[in-house]
Amino acid sequence: MSQDRCSFCGSSREDVEVLITGIEGKICEVCVMRSEELLADGDIIPSKELKQHSDEKVEINLLSPLELRSHLDDYVIGQDDAKKYLCVAVYNHYKRLQYNQKHGENNDVEIEKSNMLLVGRTGTGKTLLAKTIARTLNVPFTIVDATVFTQAGYVGEDVESILSRLLQSCDYNIAKAEQGIVFIDELDKIARKGSNPSITRDVSGEGVQQSLLKIVEGSIVNVPPQGGRKHPDQKYLKVDTKNILFICGGAFEGIEPMIRSRMKKQDIGFSVNRTVNIDDESVLKYIGPPDIKRFGILPELVGRLPVVTYLEPLSRKALRAILTEPKNAIIKQYQALFGMDDKKITFTKGAIDFIVDKAVEYKLGARGLRGICEDIMIDLMYDSPKVSDAEIKIDKAYAESKLDNFSEATLTE
Ligand code: ADP
Repeated sequence: MSQDRCSFCGSSREDVEVLITGIEGKICEVCVMRSEELLADGDIIPSKELKQHSDEKVEINLLSPLELRSHLDDYVIGQDDAKKYLCVAVYNHYKRLQYNQKHGENNDVEIEKSNMLLVGRTGTGKTLLAKTIARTLNVPFTIVDATVFTQAGYVGEDVESILSRLLQSCDYNIAKAEQGIVFIDELDKIARKGSNPSITRDVSGEGVQQSLLKIVEGSIVNVPPQGGRKHPDQKYLKVDTKNILFICGGAFEGIEPMIRSRMKKQDIGFSVNRTVNIDDESVLKYIGPPDIKRFGILPELVGRLPVVTYLEPLSRKALRAILTEPKNAIIKQYQALFGMDDKKITFTKGAIDFIVDKAVEYKLGARGLRGICEDIMIDLMYDSPKVSDAEIKIDKAYAESKLDNFSEATLTE
């Protein structure tokens, strides 16, 4: 009777309700249910998802800094300094990778990786820059928000789930993920609060920074394939982060006075005859690692983000350009959508100026532009297939009339 048993748990036919016979063995209903639970929990990685093409060569479209810059210019308006630093950092990062592949571990000169930090107000293009450069290089890319993480053992996501998302973005191809780019947004929100870290346990600040540090500096990390919180019986994927490029971003609101005070101290210390006016609005361009440290980011983490650069607040001219110039400019997107219904849509200069005025009024940078445009366009898009005019012109009066019941809430995406 030994053949009349479940091949997984050994229960005999008498002990179970159902025993299903397969080609090689049998399975009882309890084991079927248990397997279903395991799959639902994500403890088992379906083999079709897990493509560990470890021997597969990953093709990176490595362009020179100037070529990268010209791709960025197609999508991102202004931000010259940030573009320059980003292109050089990315170029060096992938060159370093090729250098290490060529010379193996025993090379004389060890080139360190150039993770970077972009500081600038919300809606100035930090995410857009990182996303565009990853697309240009054709490498896996993911965006994570630092505020969703908490120190291991507390409610919230484990930092390792950053890598789960990167893996998901490239269909679990580990070799590819290991050469990807991760954008960690809102780094400033996990700054250490207060100067004495030991008074209260700072589970979402310093603790997270410590865990981030390990990943950012390069180590082999056990990654829960489906993300979320790690648990003991889970199966992990091993991901080496030494070649992953981490780009962090944050508004770092309130950092300007810190930059000014540092620069004043430097002036006194070295009695330099400084020609720059440190009281002007654009003091952010002098930002450096000491300011980030003073803001509450751990010195070790600051050390792992050697390239620090800034994004300027967007001027009216830049906002106007964002509406019309990039390859996927908002207005071009509407034109394409209406074009599909055989309609030509144009915006007058007055309408564009009006949209820019509203975006400035609500202080949402370029983020506000889409919300405002959506409010202006919603009725037309609703009726579009029925509207008989082949040409539609949006002027200031039309835009104004549609924004009558405009609420600030609609702007915040
Ligand atoms: P941040 O990450 O700085 O908060 P994002 O990069 O997410 O801002 O920008 C939000 C949106 O605003 C982008 O999707 C893009 O449409 C637009 N945008 C922001 N800055 C720029 C820019 N410099 N050039 C073109 N579009 C921009």
